[in-house]
Amino acid sequence: MTATAPAACIVGWPVDHSRSPIIHNYWLKAYGIAGAYRREAVAPEHFGSFVQSLAARGYVGANVTVPHKEAVLEFTLPDDRASAVGAANTLWIDDDGFLRSTNTDVEGFLDNLDAGAPGWNDGLDHAVVVGAGGAARAVVHGLLTRKTRRITVVNRTEHRAKNLHALLGKPVQAAPWDALNDLLGDAGLLVNTTTLGMAGQPELPADIGRLPGHAIVADLVYVPLITPLLRAAQARGLRTADGLGMLLHQAVRGFTLWFGRKPEVTPQLRAAVEADLGPSAA
Ligand code: NAP
Repeated sequence: MTATAPAACIVGWPVDHSRSPIIHNYWLKAYGIAGAYRREAVAPEHFGSFVQSLAARGYVGANVTVPHKEAVLEFTLPDDRASAVGAANTLWIDDDGFLRSTNTDVEGFLDNLDAGAPGWNDGLDHAVVVGAGGAARAVVHGLLTRKTRRITVVNRTEHRAKNLHALLGKPVQAAPWDALNDLLGDAGLLVNTTTLGMAGQPELPADIGRLPGHAIVADLVYVPLITPLLRAAQARGLRTADGLGMLLHQAVRGFTLWFGRKPEVTPQLRAAVEADLGPSAA
């Protein structure tokens, strides 16, 4: 690798758990691109100065993860998508030297469903989104771009779901946590954006039997790969989309911006990340 090879990084606090280096370094190797992708552990109090000196540190761009996804908007020029979601996860320095940001969780969610459940949004009338945090905002924004007629957001802390209604308007409704199962009867899509179902956490209390037979179930959690929610949906014969697929698809745009080639999400890439997740993810 030469001294001028492009480099990018993931900035988080902590950042050890991130699988992004595996994904980007897999693609760099697969396409024979001289470049690098590293982890950068940056505490919140140093985050602003870190991103403002990204170029001086030799980076052409970065991913941003917890807890910096909202704070990053202040230090970058967000595109419409990042502004609408209120959070960004991908940064790049444009040809004029401006530090720009976008939110690729939106396309990660949509592209994963397009790949795994083609036609999923044809005539989608009602989607139920569980959770109202940062990931839920990206999912709801994505569903609105696909003209979903009604989206009901169910969250443990109901006022956060109501905030989404206030932000995004009429197609987005808020419902209390204990209404979840009563909402499933006409839901064509159920999405878990909470941490429930993650290894060590309780399961999402959704009764899959209430969903119509054509419903699709998506889970953003990817440890374990097959969450109890996805397992129950598959047992009923419903189509599903998992969190690892979203993680892989959200990485495509950053790699393209930094390294100049649109990479593919392949079964081999997926296997490489699965191997890193280890037996605890199975
Ligand atoms: P966040 O902003 O902290 O939101 C967490 C959400 O989970 C909130 O809605 C919270 O409800 C809910 N929650 C947490 N514990 C709960 C419990 N015991 N019972 C009910 N609800 C609970 O986090 P985030 O950034 O949105 O991320 C959420 C999940 O999505 C994480 O598992 C993350 O790893 C995953 N994610 C995956 C991808 C991907 O590419 N696959 C991308 C982004 C995020 P309250 O509001 O009531 O606290």
